Amino acid sequence: MKKLTFVLLLVACVSWANQSPWASEAGTRPLVMKWLGNAGWEIRTGSTVILIDPFLTRKQASASEEWKTNEEEVLRNIEKADFIFAGHSHADHIADIPFIARRFGSKIIGSRTTINIALTAGVDKSQLTSIGGGEKFDFKDFSVEVIESQHGVLNRGGRRRQPRSQEILEPWSGPIKGDAFVQGGSYLYYFTFGKLRILHQSTGNFIEERLKNIRPDVALLAENRNYHWPDALELLRPKTVVIHHYDQWRTPFSEGIPESNRRRAQRFERVITSFDSNIKVIIPELLKTVSLE
Ligand SMILES: [Zn+2]
Repeated sequence: MKKLTFVLLLVACVSWANQSPWASEAGTRPLVMKWLGNAGWEIRTGSTVILIDPFLTRKQASASEEWKTNEEEVLRNIEKADFIFAGHSHADHIADIPFIARRFGSKIIGSRTTINIALTAGVDKSQLTSIGGGEKFDFKDFSVEVIESQHGVLNRGGRRRQPRSQEILEPWSGPIKGDAFVQGGSYLYYFTFGKLRILHQSTGNFIEERLKNIRPDVALLAENRNYHWPDALELLRPKTVVIHHYDQWRTPFSEGIPESNRRRAQRFERVITSFDSNIKVIIPELLKTVSLE
C-alpha cells in the first residue's frame, strides 16, 4: 500500500512538471526575437507571440488627417499576436496597435492614453489593460514588470526639448487623427522568460531611481544622443544591449536604413563599449531575428 502511494505521488509530480515547462526546463525554451523597426519587437516563446511597440506603417501621422494603418504591410509581417505592449503613445509606437489587436484578438497593455485610443478605434474593452507603473503580470509563458520611465529628449531644428506629457483621459467618437497620438505615460517592460530577463525601452530616457534591482540579461535600448547613458548602464549592468529606434521610421522597409542612421547606432555602440567592453552590443537589421547566443 505504501509502495502504491509512492508510485502515485511520483506520477503526479512528473505530470505536474510536464504542465509547467518553466519548472522542468527553465531558461532552455527557445525564444525568437524579431526586430520590427523603430522600437518594435516580436518575441515568440512556445506558441505565444508578444509584440512590443509594433509600427509597420512607417510614415509620419498627419496631425489633421485621419490615421490609416497600412494593413497590407502589417499583415505581411504579423501573423499572430497574443499580447501587445505599448511603451508610450506616440504614433510611431502605437498607431498600428488597434488594427493588429482587432485582427488577432490581442490583449493590449499600455498607458491610459493608449487604452483610450484603442477604445476609440473599436478594440473591445476585454482586451485592454491600463498601466501606471509598478504592475507585475504573470502569464503562462512569461511574466512582466512595468517600470515608470520618461520620454527621451527630442531634437527639433537643433533645439532640444522634452515633449509635453499629455494624456487622453477618455475615448471619443473618432475619427483618430494624427494629433491624437500624444505621448501619454512612458514605461519600460521588464520581461522574465524562464531564467532570461529582457528590458524593453520605448524611448531614450529613464527615471534612474526606478532602475534599482533591474538587472537585465538583455536590454533593448532606444538610441538617443541626448541621454547620458553611463547613468543607466551603471545601474542596469546588462550582459547584452540591442540598439533599436535608430532607423528612419518615416520611410518604408524597402528603403532600408540610411548610412547616417547606422552611424548613430555605431556611435551609441561606442558609448556602451567604452563604458564596459564586456557588454555585447547588437545592432539589429530590419525584420530580422537577433541571436542572443
Ligand atoms: Zn515618442
